[in-house]
Amino acid sequence: MSVSDVVRGVIEDIRADGDPAVRRYSSQFDRWTPDSFRLDQAQVEKIVASVPDTVLDDIRTVQANIRDFAQAQRETMLDLEVESQPGVFLGHRHLPIVASGAYVPGGRYPLTASAHMTVVTAKVAGVERVTACTPPLRGEIPPATIAAMHLAGADEIYVLGGVQAVAAMALGTETIGRVDLIAGPGNAYVAEAKRQLFGEVGIDLFAGPTEILVIADDEADPFVVAVDLLSQAEHGPDSPAVLITTSEALARETVAHIEAILPDMPTADMAGPAWRDHGEVHVVADLDAAYALADSYASEHVQVLTRNPREALDKMRHYGALFLGEGTCVSYGDKVIGTNHVLPTRGAARYTGGLWVGKYLRTVTYQEVRNPAASAALGELCGRAARVELFEGHARSGDVRAAKYGGAALPW
Ligand code: NAD
Repeated sequence: MSVSDVVRGVIEDIRADGDPAVRRYSSQFDRWTPDSFRLDQAQVEKIVASVPDTVLDDIRTVQANIRDFAQAQRETMLDLEVESQPGVFLGHRHLPIVASGAYVPGGRYPLTASAHMTVVTAKVAGVERVTACTPPLRGEIPPATIAAMHLAGADEIYVLGGVQAVAAMALGTETIGRVDLIAGPGNAYVAEAKRQLFGEVGIDLFAGPTEILVIADDEADPFVVAVDLLSQAEHGPDSPAVLITTSEALARETVAHIEAILPDMPTADMAGPAWRDHGEVHVVADLDAAYALADSYASEHVQVLTRNPREALDKMRHYGALFLGEGTCVSYGDKVIGTNHVLPTRGAARYTGGLWVGKYLRTVTYQEVRNPAASAALGELCGRAARVELFEGHARSGDVRAAKYGGAALPW
């Protein structure tokens, strides 16, 4: 059965049956059937207390980095009101989503950082109720992930993963409250569940299996290029890792380093198949050709290891996030630096950026006309415009205002 068919079946069963279906699929896919999927306050506190202080301190530091950047981004989203003509006021406001779901992946690795990205950002936006879900990791509750959800301010925490978590949050069950928007990355099943449920629930974007693309010139360090390619290939056997370079020598040396590093890499079971089946190396004539080829991938992460990395800001159009120069790397973005790591995959960067505070805000408009003469003029214009479209009812709303405020008399 295809991923899409599996996901459709699970969603329809959960829609029909609610909690019992959630429990059946959690048992089937994760062998996980606790008394309650939701952790109560005492359980959360006990789990947080079990996490070493150094880990908690690092979580707080990283969350502060993410919060600060999200806050700065929030401050750029200004409410607006213009007087478009005397006495005519048009405005917009940014209203937070009321309830959001944070999907924090955890099938292969406990992706603690995804809790920062989804929960902290939602809270900066002003979301009232944040529900956070993560699967058990090999039958165990992932303590650092739960601690990160709690410290980020999640209001409800569930140990529940995959399609069953996404469907429960989107549709609501007897025990899991429905949310308005689901954000967060995940594997192909999770991404497909969000795609199928979109419309019934809002989603952030299509954030499926991770991708990396490195642009390197002849000055790049092939050892660093190799390590960075593998850093993302380890996400899973379906994670593409692409090198585009102007230097044939660098291409050869990078591949030699990868072959040397891979056998001893603790996550070679993921990175090995990813590199073998989805690794690519392209040698191109110059950097303009490199940018053009990179654009055609619209890759989630683009690392630029060239003499003048900032050039990519002007030359590239399709990417989820750019990592400029050797001083930074995709792992910084994934784990610590403060930008959001939930990013578009599979070409979705052609039409969307990644998760950010703006995804949790709805830009809504309003209007007011305080000047009777302006309303009369708009009424006459509206009457004519609506009748072109054969909308007599619309036209009459304009007509009555025109007639009442000193414009043309009622034509009917
Ligand atoms: P996950 O939490 O996304 O998925 C685990 C769940 O998948 C399990 O709980 C299980 O219920 C379900 N599942 C597994 N096999 C299934 C099957 N055969 N049928 C139905 N359901 C099944 O965790 P993961 O698997 O570790 O994947 C995490 C993914 O997130 C990786 O692919 C990674 O690349 C991606 N990721 C993407 C971004 C981004 O921004 N695009 C960021 C971080 C991680």
